[in-house]
Amino acid sequence: MARYTGSVCRLCRRENLKLFLKGDRCYSDKCAFDRRGYPPGQHGQSRRGKISDYGIQLREKQKVKRMYGLSENQFRLFFKRAERQAGITGTNLLVLLERRLDNVVYRLGFVNSRSQGRHFVRHNHFLVNGKKVNIPSYQVQMNDVIEVREKSRNIKAIEEAMEAVARRGVPQWLDLEKENYRGVVKAFPVREDITMPIQEQLIVELYSK
Ligand code: SF4
Repeated sequence: MARYTGSVCRLCRRENLKLFLKGDRCYSDKCAFDRRGYPPGQHGQSRRGKISDYGIQLREKQKVKRMYGLSENQFRLFFKRAERQAGITGTNLLVLLERRLDNVVYRLGFVNSRSQGRHFVRHNHFLVNGKKVNIPSYQVQMNDVIEVREKSRNIKAIEEAMEAVARRGVPQWLDLEKENYRGVVKAFPVREDITMPIQEQLIVELYSK
């Protein structure tokens, strides 16, 4: 499946928002968005024309899709699933995205970014309820126990991420037992747990056309 392999910092600049795709660098003075907070490209500093309603909706979808590192197809599948659930589709979508295993290991501070989370999940560095799960899109369930495998605990990237976890904080719906390299899903996330500025209704409007 085609995956974006260019500079992820360009994505933040394109979406006019820090998407926190690069771990530690995002919190340092090397952050490209902090240094050059205008769209990338030759005309990035000059092109600021009026954007249509469709354009606004599209940007919102791209922003969330890029934040979670998904392809268009993957994102659409999540949207369809959210639509089938009872409740507000936009909220359902965000909750489903938050419940992805690659996001959960990121939220618990075992890795520095969701893309690193995806990579490490695929390489079997985590256990869910004591069993190997190497599917980044795995949806965590209530009371699931997610832990770093014993033999993976001395991986430098995991050690560094766990040292930095205090800076990001762990959301309320997860419980981190840092000394045991494990976390528990206490509850499903609610809308208020997702603090990035997202107007999910715009994504619903886009896909409803
Ligand atoms: Fe975005 Fe992080 Fe790059 Fe800054 S360092 S532009 S937040 S990915």
